[in-house]
Amino acid sequence: MAQTISPSTVDATEVLDVELQNIVKTFGEETAVQGLNLQIRQGEFFGILGPSGCGKTTTLRMIAGFDAPTSGQLTIQGKSMHGVPAHRRSVNTVFQSYALFNHMSVWDNVAFGLKVKKFPKADLRQRVGEALTLVQMESFAKRYPTQLSGGQKQRVALARALVNRPAVMLLDEPLGALDLKLRKQMQVELSNLHQRLGITFIMVTHDQEEALSLSNRIAVMKDGQIEQVGSPNEIYEHPNTAFVADFIGDTNLLSGRIQQHPWTLTMASGLQVNIAPTHLGDGTPADISLRPEKIQLMAQDHTASPHNHANHHQGEVKHTLYTGPHIHCIIELTTGERLRVLQPNHIRYQPGDKVHVAWAAADCQVLAPSSSP
Ligand code: ATP
Repeated sequence: MAQTISPSTVDATEVLDVELQNIVKTFGEETAVQGLNLQIRQGEFFGILGPSGCGKTTTLRMIAGFDAPTSGQLTIQGKSMHGVPAHRRSVNTVFQSYALFNHMSVWDNVAFGLKVKKFPKADLRQRVGEALTLVQMESFAKRYPTQLSGGQKQRVALARALVNRPAVMLLDEPLGALDLKLRKQMQVELSNLHQRLGITFIMVTHDQEEALSLSNRIAVMKDGQIEQVGSPNEIYEHPNTAFVADFIGDTNLLSGRIQQHPWTLTMASGLQVNIAPTHLGDGTPADISLRPEKIQLMAQDHTASPHNHANHHQGEVKHTLYTGPHIHCIIELTTGERLRVLQPNHIRYQPGDKVHVAWAAADCQVLAPSSSP
């Protein structure tokens, strides 16, 4: 899915569709969202990602107007949403559960909102027709939701939101109920729809791959706060914290102390990992993230060894896990650390094989501590 990578920070001159300033939401004793700041550009596909209970849905519900912030400022297209009810905001929400009316046909489901608003009949017919065409469901107009597949129901739910021509589409785990194959297909359709419409999409998901492949930018949340906002590439290649590194994809987290001259992370076992220069001072405790696909593996009986890398160690294969296109290998270094290494599936190692492991200093991402424990 081709997309332009947008800078992670928003320029003061850029047009914003949604802005959250210091938003807090409490439910009794429970703080669901604590001091959230977000700036979402017009036309952006913005992903909100994080584990269960981190406050994603609460954030979306506040933008939609289903919940009011306890404190803070929320603006949509420059206007404060304080006291503005959901139906007066130019946003529409699509839920994982579709929320379709089973006793109404597809056509009536999509037309429902416009009928409530007492739209003139001719306009209504045109808009409903257009919305169904956008999601390729025009030939299903007379069917009832119970006669549709999960993917078709989700398309109707999208049409029902799009018929209102919102400035901002809110998507709460929209593909969560679909099986993997259909989910992948619907991801492409969502991306196409976003590109064709040019409106802002804000999507909540806990599927990291989905967020990476669809979003222009992603906010990773933890315990009601934002850990990092950035383009998919920044979030994956340059995670700021151990939480982000671990939550987005697989990684090896190594803990130790920074040393200069040369720049290394020295671990308690004595393992020295060469790293790129960092702003952290000599002796500072730090974690690094090393992605499994950045590590090279080579059998020890191989004539060439991967000496051209800054880091080069010996180890033994402990486990292998076949996942189809890849094989995950767990390698135990002679110093005792275990590293997860990703290999293409045509290269087969067996537990017990002696191997060289090697990686570049630039592939060691030095992490800041997480915002909360
Ligand atoms: P999930 O991925 O499981 O949907 P989430 O990240 O969307 O999780 P939220 O639904 O926003 O998380 O919930 C954040 C926190 O706020 C949770 O601890 C949840 O229990 C709490 N919470 C949410 N809604 C309410 C409510 N109406 N009353 C009390 N607590 C709530």
